[in-house]
Amino acid sequence: MLHLAFPHICEGCGSDLLDINNELCLKCLSSLPETNFHLHPHNPIEKMFWGRLPLTCASAQYYFTKESLMQHLMHQLKYRGNKDLGVFLGKLIGHALKTSNRFSAVDALIPLPLFHTREKKRGYNQASVLCEGIAEILQKPILKNIIVRKTYTDSQTKKGRVERWQNMEGRFELMAPKSIEGRHVLLIDDVITTGATLEACGREIVQASNVQLSIATLCFSSH
Ligand SMILES: [Zn+2]
Repeated sequence: MLHLAFPHICEGCGSDLLDINNELCLKCLSSLPETNFHLHPHNPIEKMFWGRLPLTCASAQYYFTKESLMQHLMHQLKYRGNKDLGVFLGKLIGHALKTSNRFSAVDALIPLPLFHTREKKRGYNQASVLCEGIAEILQKPILKNIIVRKTYTDSQTKKGRVERWQNMEGRFELMAPKSIEGRHVLLIDDVITTGATLEACGREIVQASNVQLSIATLCFSSH
């Protein structure tokens, strides 16, 4: 009866044949386009940052394509308040990173911050929600309020790469450098496109003494 009253259905296809701990059925889960970048040094995400930002490792879990299940999941995560889905997707990232010894020295997670009024409007930061899932699998702490986003920036989607970079530069401020000194931190975001935002945030993080920085995102959008 409980099942009829509160059906737990797959976010992809609507099938009700799934475990209460899953947000996607096995068929939808296996259809997500994995990059396997976490296993490979010099992967496209790491190359993207060459000459821009010193990183230990970087990865994106899935390819993002338009009109796809991943686009639907991203929409749910960012605009529909589906935090359970975000934690679930975070766990998928965590499980992948756990199989890679390249990320095993990471000792703390940092969600890419949103500007505070945007986070208030949305009610949450989607990167923090992903971090919750990753933290559960990797058993690492989430460091919040270490770095803040200083200025509101308009939606980046219609801007070119140079313009985006200029728009983002210096828009983050490291508030608590002491708390990341000597640590290997993993910066988390939902999607990476040009890397401009992560670069701007990462530049501040690496100002802390003896810090190692790695990056992981849910998706890689090449457009
Ligand atoms: Zn499904």
